[in-house]
Amino acid sequence: MTAHKKPAAMTARLLRAAGDRIARRDKPNRRLCIVNYHRILAMPDPLLAAEPDVNAFRWQVELLADCFNVMPLHEALAAQQAGDLPPRAVCITFDDGYRSVYELAVPILKDCGVHATVFVTTGYLGKGSMWNDRIIEAVQRHEAGSVDLRHIGLGNHPLKTMEDRRKLIDSLTARAKYLPPDGRAMMIRELETSLGSRRSPPLMLTPRQVGELARQGIEIGGHTVSHPILTSLEDETACYEIAACKTQLESLTGRPVRLFAYPNGKPGKDFNERHIRMTREAGFVAAFTTALGAATREHDRFQLPRCRPWDRTPSLFGLRLLRWLAGQGQ
Ligand SMILES: [Zn+2]
Repeated sequence: MTAHKKPAAMTARLLRAAGDRIARRDKPNRRLCIVNYHRILAMPDPLLAAEPDVNAFRWQVELLADCFNVMPLHEALAAQQAGDLPPRAVCITFDDGYRSVYELAVPILKDCGVHATVFVTTGYLGKGSMWNDRIIEAVQRHEAGSVDLRHIGLGNHPLKTMEDRRKLIDSLTARAKYLPPDGRAMMIRELETSLGSRRSPPLMLTPRQVGELARQGIEIGGHTVSHPILTSLEDETACYEIAACKTQLESLTGRPVRLFAYPNGKPGKDFNERHIRMTREAGFVAAFTTALGAATREHDRFQLPRCRPWDRTPSLFGLRLLRWLAGQGQ
């Protein structure tokens, strides 16, 4: 960890004191910040600016452990319902089931003595990369200064600068995200053929690692089988996606899988009332969205928002969490 990232003792004291004031004011209706990570990078990558590298993740977790009360998610939800959530309550979650959670994040969580929940997409376990990462990998590896994708209806793009690559990744991802699963798979295959992509080492957890995480005390939650946009599916398929990931994860971990995160997670757009009902009927007890904010006691237990405080310095990172805990803005 770089020394300048460590929150000064004074900053940590101020964050704790401000958090306690908010908690005194709001008792018994205290808010809960559920931080939402995906992948941890071994080193910074300009094409993945939203994902923390392992050094950033370390100072973030150290700050959470030092200035906040990091709780197991299931316990925090129960305490919130009972009106006795401790001050400065925070939970850590990871979506998708990246191998870097096992390899890079968990050792840091253990060092800091904090708990986390990992929402796993079962269909990718031990099988390489998710579609969005395959787009990134294809664009990352393409060496020419431009790319012509007109033959597959995806335009002609310059690839001279990092910004060009970022733009192309964003536009291909936006395009692929809402395609039906078959159409999306075809688009990715055509893209990889056109860009001459080699497949990278697998990015996702193996089934054995999921079992190992559960044995180490990490809670495993469901995140569907194939990470579809639920609203793009027939009800029968959506139902299968939600229920099958639960049974698959329960057989891998030997424990009940109680929590679920909606893929992509935008309420009303990526899932709706029907999917909330399916999630409840599958036996989950709470579900999480990608709507931004802290969870309150009034939130529907099946539409809980989460926080992404990706500020570059510990004090801004901590202050943003406090603002959410205070119920202010984003
Ligand atoms: Zn996801």
